[in-house]
Amino acid sequence: MSATPGPARVALVTGCRSGFGLLIAVELARRGFVVYAGLRDVSTAGDLAAATVALPVHPVQLDVTQAEQRDAVVARILAEHGRVDALVNNAGIAIGGFLEQLAEADLRAQLEVNLFAVWALTNAVLPTMRAQGSGVVVNISSVSGRIAIPGLGGYATSKFALEGMTEALRHEVAPFGIGVALVEPGPYTTDIFGRNRRIAEAAQDPDDPYAARTARLEQLADKANATAGDPVDVALRVAALCQARGFALRHPMGTSARVRLWIRRWLPFGLWEWALAKATAPRG
Ligand code: NAD
Repeated sequence: MSATPGPARVALVTGCRSGFGLLIAVELARRGFVVYAGLRDVSTAGDLAAATVALPVHPVQLDVTQAEQRDAVVARILAEHGRVDALVNNAGIAIGGFLEQLAEADLRAQLEVNLFAVWALTNAVLPTMRAQGSGVVVNISSVSGRIAIPGLGGYATSKFALEGMTEALRHEVAPFGIGVALVEPGPYTTDIFGRNRRIAEAAQDPDDPYAARTARLEQLADKANATAGDPVDVALRVAALCQARGFALRHPMGTSARVRLWIRRWLPFGLWEWALAKATAPRG
């Protein structure tokens, strides 16, 4: 007698137009999940559709900052499958610029996408996961969630906050059988610092008092991007977490992230600060 197959496992992934999100959707579908792949604008699903021909991936309209879109996607998943096994909060933006250069709207936008939307979407699936007694939430943080560098303070603010929120969430929902993880990539080749790059207006002014340091930071960023990792590695780790039971909270990804975190952990802060100031000081 053949065993009756269990219900399909269902995943919701945000920010699937490009980068990690697209690859995570593909990898989860290959592993047997039915994937609802959120896109800020579903008409941009071309790359995702091409990568998921014959795979159970449903592109869905999901600007994560829009409450009615979050509710509609979760309602559709529950109507079609009645369950949510994995939520991957991947959608994110990075607005470059020194903190003094950011407009209030920049910092608010940064936190809306990278923090508030994660909290809200997670809350939208938790009642279902609690009722199931199972589920996995993976939040894509960054090495910038543990190390703040000049020129990316708004992004670090959002990811440090995400780390605190996720750590608390893990304690809060563990008794319901729900696992929570943070994935912390270093530099990877995606669109975030390319097509999707965002810079505060003041940071583009050559007469701004921070201009020389901005130029130096751009040189360093180009160097880091030249050795950026293959985003498939991140997708594989995230997919493995979605299938796992019992895993660590934090998952740093990439050699450069692991090395920086190791140095930051063991070097006294004064020395770290001195080294960072030296590395980021304008040359010449
Ligand atoms: P990416 O720009 O290729 O992808 C980000 C995705 O988020 C895009 O599909 C974009 O459309 C989507 N997005 C942005 N705002 C949205 C919104 N309001 N609603 C829905 N979707 C929205 O970049 P990525 O590197 O793949 O970024 C994914 C995650 O990885 C982000 O959270 C980012 O902070 C994190 N990260 C990236 C790197 C890296 O080097 N690439 C390093 C550390 C962390």
